[in-house]
Amino acid sequence: MAVSASRRRQPSRTSGGPSTVGGVNGWQDDPGDSLPPAVPAELRPVPDLSIAPLRMRIDVTPAPAAGAYELGTPEFRYWSAAEALERGATFWRQFLPEGTTWQPGEELRVLLDEGEDFNAFYDRNALNFFHGTAGGRTVFSGESPDIVCHEQGHGVLDALRPELFDAGSIEAAAFHESFADICAIMAALQLQSLRVAILSDTRSDLSRSSRLSRLAEQLGWAIRQVSPDAVDADCLRNAVNSFFYHSPEELPTQGPAAALSSEPHSFSRVFTGAFFASRCRIGRRRGEQWRQISQRIDQRFCPARDPVRPRRRGNDSRPDSGASGRGTGSCRCTRSLARITPSGIGRRRLRARGYPSSRPGGIGTAAAGHRGRSGRRWFGFGSQQRACRSRLCRGSDPARSYRCW
Ligand SMILES: [Zn+2]
Repeated sequence: MAVSASRRRQPSRTSGGPSTVGGVNGWQDDPGDSLPPAVPAELRPVPDLSIAPLRMRIDVTPAPAAGAYELGTPEFRYWSAAEALERGATFWRQFLPEGTTWQPGEELRVLLDEGEDFNAFYDRNALNFFHGTAGGRTVFSGESPDIVCHEQGHGVLDALRPELFDAGSIEAAAFHESFADICAIMAALQLQSLRVAILSDTRSDLSRSSRLSRLAEQLGWAIRQVSPDAVDADCLRNAVNSFFYHSPEELPTQGPAAALSSEPHSFSRVFTGAFFASRCRIGRRRGEQWRQISQRIDQRFCPARDPVRPRRRGNDSRPDSGASGRGTGSCRCTRSLARITPSGIGRRRLRARGYPSSRPGGIGTAAAGHRGRSGRRWFGFGSQQRACRSRLCRGSDPARSYRCW
């Protein structure tokens, strides 16, 4: 990835202990999938996790002294995670109603390395992170600000809307995942260095895929070494996507990343994509474009058929939100049919790999049986699926309530 020299602030490195520079090293959004990292860690002010509300504590004893530690050390990971956590908490504090606390109480624990897995989750007790080895490299999910702020986002939403945590709805679970991904995006946007970089990389067209839209590139790379089609080709999930709403009951329960399924992480991409598209347009053009933004969101969620309003033919098949008065908040066709999944590129790629397209305009049955040509079974996020004990897949263990990355 091309990176301008102006934002390549090299971190201070030492041969063991921290540098004497006042600050800590942290990533902008993710360590990335390349070695050495395309975007080096940056020096940031020492974070303070003791501020309420949203007080947090990384469960490491003793906590390392603040400093700019060498990459790859536990001390670096501690302060990189702390910096990301503070960034996310600072963003959300300005919106929280008075008296808001975490579900576990005033303080939320953060467990940076709970063992070997390509995973991370929030479980109403703590934010849990892991490490895993693939392709000769060991990655730590707690080192990525994208993942840290995603899990923190689950905690924030649980503090605001606890009823969503165990709601018996695929869409509620998917919204939880989408909200968490949006938290990661908003936390990244708090950094001016990243904002400048993204504007440069996308030539100010934020609707392009970029480091801002690509979430958890490093963990995505690691999972691809184990299961190449389980995640996106260049990240774990991408907020720039072409997925459209479709009733989750009619989607396969699992599938490759190129297809939409009712698995909450997969289905969440519809909501995240709609949010990101609207956000890009707000940033690019203001004012009367609000109406167009609403129209775009309507088209994303109700592009083909509206049970309330008969579908038109030809070029008039898309709903006219302005004429119908169906804005973002008044969309009545949340169960309408739509193009099931991906862009033309995604469909072509899947057909080339032998997946059938048995429904008009979609590939909803592409993963039927969840087996590819090789006979290998598909699963959500590689080995993560084994550890996934979220409400929707915790089986006979109702006492365990997890949210996975
Ligand atoms: Zn999650």
